Amino acid sequence: MPAPKQFLPQPTPETAHFWEGAKAGELRLQRCSACNHAYFPPRPFCPDCGSRDVAVFKASGDAKLYSYVINHRPRPDFGEEPHSIAVVELAEGPRMMTNIVGCPQTPEALQLDMPLKVTFEDKSDDIALPKFTPADSQAGA
Ligand SMILES: [Zn+2]
Repeated sequence: MPAPKQFLPQPTPETAHFWEGAKAGELRLQRCSACNHAYFPPRPFCPDCGSRDVAVFKASGDAKLYSYVINHRPRPDFGEEPHSIAVVELAEGPRMMTNIVGCPQTPEALQLDMPLKVTFEDKSDDIALPKFTPADSQAGA
C-alpha cells in the first residue's frame, strides 16, 4: 500500500518566511510598521491599513483556544483517531487554524480559552506544521 497522501502546504515567496521559521522552530508573524497591527496569514501588505511597510517578527508562541471541532472521520493524513481542528488566538492577536496535540481529543480536555503553546511537527524537508499543545501539559502530566 502506498504511504498516505500528505496534504502539505507549498511555500510561496509571500509565505517563505513563515515556513522557514516553522522549520527553525519559530512562529513568525508580520507587523505593520505604519499602524502596529500584527497579522496572519502572510501577505505583503497590512490587512488593516494597506501599508506595504511591514516586517516579519518572531511571535511568542503563546495562544489560547478560541474555537474547535473534533473530527471523527478518519482522514489519511491525520490517521484513524479523532482529532481536533482548532482556531487559536495568538497572544499577538491574529487567529490561526491548527490542531491541538498532546492532550485527549475530547470536549473535557479541550476547554475554550485554555492557554496553549506552539509546537512544530516535521512533515518534510521543507515543511514543519505549527500545532498547539496545552501550556500546562508538563505540569499537569
Ligand atoms: Zn497597518
